[in-house]
Amino acid sequence: MRVLVVEDEPRIAADVAAALKAGGFVPEVSGDGEEAWFRGDTEDYAVIVLDLGLPRMDGLAVLKRWRAAGRQVPVLVLTARGAWAERVEGIDAGADDYLPKPFRMEELVARVRALVRRSAGFGAAIIEIGPLIVDPRQMRVSVNGIVQQLSPLEYRLVAYLALHKGRVISAHELIEQLYGEDDARDANALEALVMRLRRKLGAEVIETRRGFGYLVPEPRT
Ligand code: CA
Repeated sequence: MRVLVVEDEPRIAADVAAALKAGGFVPEVSGDGEEAWFRGDTEDYAVIVLDLGLPRMDGLAVLKRWRAAGRQVPVLVLTARGAWAERVEGIDAGADDYLPKPFRMEELVARVRALVRRSAGFGAAIIEIGPLIVDPRQMRVSVNGIVQQLSPLEYRLVAYLALHKGRVISAHELIEQLYGEDDARDANALEALVMRLRRKLGAEVIETRRGFGYLVPEPRT
């Protein structure tokens, strides 16, 4: 799942990106308000982490422009410690959550996970779809109670499909969300990945719709 990290402090940006990557996300960093606005306006991210003090366009202006254009992506705003007015402004401008600096990376990743989950319509921390259980905190997947050993890439694929259960996801969207901008693969690599996952999880967990994409179906009742 792609996450845009908008932060002009290179060290913080690198730390946040590393923590998100370790948490199973595909982070992309932007250190410039105007460039970040453009990316958020034209690309699909699961969450955007947005610092407010940015060169070229400040974070609040960036957020307001996304919202004015109807962009619904969940946004976690990074604010200065104790700056309550900044937080109020951020929330009024359309932020979904905020985190005062300095913060623990664990907290940031937990908040990003929660935003992803809520925007996908899941209230509970663990995603349960029939026999399939995905635990984003532990990056663990089980089927019929048996924990499956998955590679990070396999985990990202099944977690993304589970979050969008019942929806056919195109190969194009999956490739973008799994590999990120720097490591674009083709549909054959994705097909091979899906085949591997089917062998591990059982053929019924992930369905293929030829020419359309892949889905984790809603459980049959
Ligand atoms: Ca800053």
